[in-house]
Amino acid sequence: MAAENTITKTVWQYSEPLPEETMAFLRGIALDYSKIKKYVYNRYSGIGSLNRLTPAFDIMSEVRASGIRTQLNLPSAYFSPAVVDAVSDIKTMWGMLKNKLRTLITANENLSGDDRIYLRTVLKLDNIYAAILNHEEYEVPNKAKELDIDVEHLNRLLCRLTRKYLTKLESVSTDYFSIASCGYAYRDGAIYIASRTSGRRMEIPLKDNNICRRQIRLCIRKDYAALALPVETKIKKHADYNNTVYVHIGYQDMFTLSNGNVYGQALGSMTSMETQRLDDKNRRRAKMRSEYQHSMESGDKEKAGNIEENNLGTEKYQKRKDKERAKTEIFINTEINRMLESEKPCRIVITRPLTVGRTKLPSKAANRKMARSFNGYIRERLSYKCRIHSIDLIEINSKGTGSLCSCCGAEGKRMQNGFLCPKCGYNVSISLNGAKNIESKYNAAKE
Ligand SMILES: [Zn+2]
Repeated sequence: MAAENTITKTVWQYSEPLPEETMAFLRGIALDYSKIKKYVYNRYSGIGSLNRLTPAFDIMSEVRASGIRTQLNLPSAYFSPAVVDAVSDIKTMWGMLKNKLRTLITANENLSGDDRIYLRTVLKLDNIYAAILNHEEYEVPNKAKELDIDVEHLNRLLCRLTRKYLTKLESVSTDYFSIASCGYAYRDGAIYIASRTSGRRMEIPLKDNNICRRQIRLCIRKDYAALALPVETKIKKHADYNNTVYVHIGYQDMFTLSNGNVYGQALGSMTSMETQRLDDKNRRRAKMRSEYQHSMESGDKEKAGNIEENNLGTEKYQKRKDKERAKTEIFINTEINRMLESEKPCRIVITRPLTVGRTKLPSKAANRKMARSFNGYIRERLSYKCRIHSIDLIEINSKGTGSLCSCCGAEGKRMQNGFLCPKCGYNVSISLNGAKNIESKYNAAKE
């Protein structure tokens, strides 16, 4: 085995239903946790703090010195993760801002090649970028010294764009908080977390016996808690995984390989059955809702109350939906595993996902179908499993892989019963034609 690499994944642990007193305590901590985060956002998300975000120790001690922690009576086990959490959000915000600026720099036709080199270099160096934004002295980076540029002009551009796209972090959710490892202990099937009284801990009975020693996150649900435990998974290396496989990811069959093998067959019928069920259900609910409206208007409060109680609840509806989703997810994971075990790939080639969302889909049903298509989930799980098994996952541009004939390269037709090439008569499933195209496109680009 080569390097001892690991990746972190989240394992969920659930509490038993909790008494209202415990739930109120958890909500209180979550609220104060959000107040700390808000405090950090307000003070440290501006240009003046850009250079101070790493490491977060200084900010931590400043916030501590401000007295807000003692004022809220928030135990340190929640306070410190809240500060770190907020700082990391601010860093993410800066990361996104820089990506936005990079895109704009690439698209700006008034900039020369040297201009672009300078701006990209500055965006990589936080201390210089921060100095420019705050109009402070800085040393021009070596890489930029020989460039033929108007530094003043470019710096002004950088300031202007930053001001324009710098967003204020504001919304803080109040339904979760993180707990430092010093703030909890597992004992007898329960987790005991720090309370506001020092030395005393709050008991939360759990449904399983997993234990954790790192910082965990507690998410507050209706009457129970869900704990996100970070778990290290070793990256495996398989000496016998030597194949390159070309995979078409579809809505009907999950994976169709260019060698003809199919995994996750009929995933589409599974999801479209669920789509149908939800459509019917929603239609019935809409009818009940109008009946409810009607009863309310005609003053029949009792009938309205009955309808609300028995037919318009969201809990059972949501539970059934979650259960169906979980079933499909298990199927997806099992089939990805089966593919990896049978195909033994060292490299998997797929197409890059198409960006949806820009155009509105024509109907609500289609919208829901897209949302439930699981395409995003499949890609995420495939990518995760590729990392665990040291498999290269390569995404290529999908252009042409759907419409061209994988046999002769002519423009073909996508018919109900498959792909048909009018030139050479090639007739296979659309997915198989797609997978074969991915194979030839990838290999053509390599040459
Ligand atoms: Zn053809």
